[in-house]
Amino acid sequence: MHTAQLLQHISDLIGAKHVLTHAEARQRYEEDATHQYQSTALAVVRPASTAEVATVVKLAHAAKVPIVPVGGNTGLSGGTWAGSSGQQIMLSLERMNQIRAIKTDSRMIIAEAGVVLDTLHQAAAAHDLIFPLIFGARGSCMLGGNLSTNAGGSNVVRYGNTRELCLGLEVVLADGQIMNLMSELRKDNTGYALKDLFIGAEGTLGIITAAVMKLHPKPQAYATAMVSLPDVNSALHLLNHLQELSNNAVEAFEYMPHNYTRRLLERFPAMQAPFGEPVEVSVLLEIGATSARDATVNADGSITIMNTLEQALGEYLASGLVLDAVIAKNETQRRAMWEQREAAYEIAVMREPRLLADVSVPLDCVQSFLEQMQVHLPNIVPEAETVNVAHLGDGNVHYTVWLDPNGIRSAAQNKQLKDELITVVEATAQALGGSFSAEHGIGVYKKDSMARRKDPVALSVMRSIKQALDPLNLMNPGKVLPDA
Ligand SMILES: Cc1cc2nc3c(=O)[nH]c(=O)nc-3n(C[C@H](O)[C@H](O)[C@H](O)COP(=O)(O)OP(=O)(O)OC[C@H]3O[C@@H](n4cnc5c(N)ncnc54)[C@H](O)[C@@H]3O)c2cc1C
Repeated sequence: MHTAQLLQHISDLIGAKHVLTHAEARQRYEEDATHQYQSTALAVVRPASTAEVATVVKLAHAAKVPIVPVGGNTGLSGGTWAGSSGQQIMLSLERMNQIRAIKTDSRMIIAEAGVVLDTLHQAAAAHDLIFPLIFGARGSCMLGGNLSTNAGGSNVVRYGNTRELCLGLEVVLADGQIMNLMSELRKDNTGYALKDLFIGAEGTLGIITAAVMKLHPKPQAYATAMVSLPDVNSALHLLNHLQELSNNAVEAFEYMPHNYTRRLLERFPAMQAPFGEPVEVSVLLEIGATSARDATVNADGSITIMNTLEQALGEYLASGLVLDAVIAKNETQRRAMWEQREAAYEIAVMREPRLLADVSVPLDCVQSFLEQMQVHLPNIVPEAETVNVAHLGDGNVHYTVWLDPNGIRSAAQNKQLKDELITVVEATAQALGGSFSAEHGIGVYKKDSMARRKDPVALSVMRSIKQALDPLNLMNPGKVLPDA
């Protein structure tokens, strides 16, 4: 089938106004959040139902035209890149934005793939519940994208990644069949874990159209603090202590070192440094009180969970494991603390050229990773500057380097140094038992790392799965798996 015929068929099916072929109409889908991967697509198609997605995929399959699924396009690894030859269809899920049901007694929400994360938050909040996946892109990213990247964010320490929040999935396979895995069950041992295969697959095995997601009780009070510590290992000590005191209710434990805070305050002069000046190691921590006992407002107006935190921090201050601490007294102060952490991506991309590495290591190896990189980095790029942050409670370091802050090298030299540096970052993480890719997916950005670092047998199994489910290589081709 000629591509013009294919697009005509799709237009007949979903309406011509949902098949965008003009460059101007395609533009907002073709540029991703990183501005590094500019696509030129054959068309952007916007189906509104699972049946429409299935028929579009069937038609594309018959015409052997590749499909790139697009959610909020906030991915950081080039997963929505549709090439530059105008031969791939971008399939936007944005019109599949219905919340099909909220079941409060069984604590779940059934939603379509195009529901924006913030909308899920609001829908849960209306029932005094939470959908606990939280990060800076929540106003744009969509459930299907979250599942396809197995997104993490700030609350993984308590609630797990997107995978842990998912009970069931609906997927359109490469040939257009609809696979119904919309289980609402907490236990369902019926063969291979197919749901998990599609989570984190970045659209390379099929298109997620809907999911059953878990909801959690809404914390009735938060204890939030910025803490200055002598080093990262002291922070880990504090985390474990707070987990014991709060019955594992630490929701976030976010590391911000001196250099990050310094650049943050330069960029946003109105923000207040919590300790007057940037400190070597600071952590934004938050405990969510879901039990009435912890959320109790006492006669003096204090809240039990905040008293618990204050007392623990007092003891740590006395022992020298904490150097200083500020507890948020109200929601305004809490929000101000979070704004300092959530500006991380904006700070990271302030300068080019840059390296954005997203590694994870075992929790007790974060300090070692950072110390080793402090030795390696100046040997590779003496004048480089780091603006790291970390989801410290998950051992996930966003190791960010501004490679040439003074603009002294050519683009080719910087590219060579960046390639050299990423292999050292990966090797350092791997030697500590870590991973080169924690939460942002592989896309095209980390395909070389995948070839270098992933177990070859695991890669071969992945290729077999891809071949079995998508023998024509039409589902988001060229992503995740290294080129053969
Ligand atoms: C400011 C900022 C902060 C961020 N913070 C975090 C963070 O803390 N933690 C984190 O994990 N990520 C973070 N991200 C990355 C990003 O927001 C997440 O990866 C998010 O889950 C992507 O969702 P999306 O809808 O934008 O997906 P997209 O970018 O549209 O797509 C991502 C990948 O999923 C595929 N895909 C999309 N929808 C579907 C579908 N329905 N079926 C099959 N495949 C599909 C795409 O083809 C692509 O490969 C951040 C990004 C920004 C810009």
